[in-house]
Amino acid sequence: LPEYAFIGRSNVGKSSLINALTNKKGLAMTSSTPGKTQLINHFLINENWYLVDLPGYGFARVSKTEKENFQKIIYSYLEKRENLLCTFVLVDIRHAPQKIDLEFMQWLGEHGVPFSIIFTKADKLKKGADDKAVETYKEEFLKTWEEMPPYFVTSSSKKEGLEDLLSFIHEINQEFRQS
Ligand code: GDP
Repeated sequence: LPEYAFIGRSNVGKSSLINALTNKKGLAMTSSTPGKTQLINHFLINENWYLVDLPGYGFARVSKTEKENFQKIIYSYLEKRENLLCTFVLVDIRHAPQKIDLEFMQWLGEHGVPFSIIFTKADKLKKGADDKAVETYKEEFLKTWEEMPPYFVTSSSKKEGLEDLLSFIHEINQEFRQS
């Protein structure tokens, strides 16, 4: 089945988004190998794709060796997973592009991993200010990239932008099935 990875800095709103996406359909199911806390969690959605929760840059409190180990596992997952159709990089809409996000996207680009940007917490900005924030982000992003990847402006608390995101996923799923 196709997989879509979700990653971002801690506190970006990843859990909230995953909850919003899974509760929405009410069909979430975890299917990880049993064990302690899983590093990489899979949620089966609608029985036709996996939402993959990557811990991303959330390892502030672990040792350096552990951090490097985690990164190795995540990077090899991203690089080798054949059914990984898109990696969603979550960024807080209120923040200017962060070095760590840009470096991560750079890595994805260099390794041929398709990605898309999800702007989170759009409800924290006033109407209009969200568009402006996205424009500012684009400007900064386009200093190193030729074009913007697909992107989505979302709010998990207001449940906004989720339909667009799900349609995008369904579209790619369809192309994948036909290929
Ligand atoms: P994670 O660390 O990336 O999993 O982030 P969480 O989902 O735990 O969210 C971090 C904080 O941001 C929490 O206090 C959430 O309530 C808040 N948050 C997450 N998404 C939204 C959103 O769409 N709108 C608002 N206003 N707050 C949000």
